[in-house]
Amino acid sequence: MPDAALVWSPDLTQYNFGPGHPMSPARLNLTHALAEELGLTSPDAVRVIEPVTVTEDDLLAVHSQDYVEAVLRAQETGTHAHRMGLGLEDNPVFDQIHTASARIVGSTLAAARAVWSGESRRAFSPAGGMHHAMPSAASGFCVYNDLALAIRDLRSQGAGRVVYVDLDAHHGDGVERVFWDDPDVLTISVHEHPTTLFPGTGYPQDVGGPGARGSAVNVALPAGTGDAQWLRAVEAVVSPLVEAFAPDVVVSQHGCDSHAHDPLTGLSLSVDAQRRAAMVVAELADRHAQGRWVAAGGGGYEIFNVVPRAWCHVLAIVEGRPVPLQTPTPPDWQAQVAAIDDMPVASTMSDVGRLGTREVTETFRPFAEGYDPADAVDRAIIATRRAVFPDHGLDPLP
Ligand SMILES: [Zn+2]
Repeated sequence: MPDAALVWSPDLTQYNFGPGHPMSPARLNLTHALAEELGLTSPDAVRVIEPVTVTEDDLLAVHSQDYVEAVLRAQETGTHAHRMGLGLEDNPVFDQIHTASARIVGSTLAAARAVWSGESRRAFSPAGGMHHAMPSAASGFCVYNDLALAIRDLRSQGAGRVVYVDLDAHHGDGVERVFWDDPDVLTISVHEHPTTLFPGTGYPQDVGGPGARGSAVNVALPAGTGDAQWLRAVEAVVSPLVEAFAPDVVVSQHGCDSHAHDPLTGLSLSVDAQRRAAMVVAELADRHAQGRWVAAGGGGYEIFNVVPRAWCHVLAIVEGRPVPLQTPTPPDWQAQVAAIDDMPVASTMSDVGRLGTREVTETFRPFAEGYDPADAVDRAIIATRRAVFPDHGLDPLP
């Protein structure tokens, strides 16, 4: 019996803002197709489970009644509520906006419950990761905050302390907001600097409310940051904090819009580095959270070559059998991508050849071995460590 779960239902692709919107449901279909072709959905690899049903009451654990009612009204009558982000360019109103958004919540809740009940040690909700959704507003393509609701659910079921790791190129502002004053939920977001990217928040000095100092952590990296430096930041900040915080469960968001080919952001990663970061999270959960790990998807707008490969790597790591980087992409999947887009299809599960970058393992240097104050990424790392490490009894300097 596999000890990993994947939450999947074709209905999850009904979360669809319409033609031309960057968050195309094709990214989920192409991810699922690649996972199938790679054998990652077979019964010996993973338990595939359905999203749980989510009621309006369930949503009130994070969202305001006014907001949930506005989303319902939008679904029933097409009414916009611009004050609440509904009907703005980023978050157009669509037919099933309430039902489809609640189903995404059900996906990540199913993952969280599978892990907390002990049925699965690890679980992945690729359709989840809606980290910008605010208690009373839709924002940045996100309607309901599945991550915050899953963390609340874990807490109500008995998880004392939860670490949330957000690897998306954008700041995980919605999740941070919900737990800003909660010292038992540590939110860590590693993102492109707020001066160059939506939502314009997530500075290292933003560390949580007065009773929860150090429970919000922000690493703001310069546009253009590549594999080795990004991984250096992840390890230098996330690893010591997770160890010091000693959570009961780790929840992570694997938005892959940090990729060099993503059309919306300025970070410059490969899927190789994104895969490496997922391995770091898995190892941290194993060492410091009894293996309990709930992973979710997130942003990612190069939907043909990037999202499917990035998230299949996450799934394989959740399953405890990472896909080797040199694995060829299956011909049937390549044909499926070629049929909807004319860009060259990735021939392997690695980007080293495609991006002209070197192997992450060759370029990575740990922060612990010393840092360079002249380097912008190292300065960002130090700023974050200075802001929060003392609150956790840690030394900001390596
Ligand atoms: Zn994003």
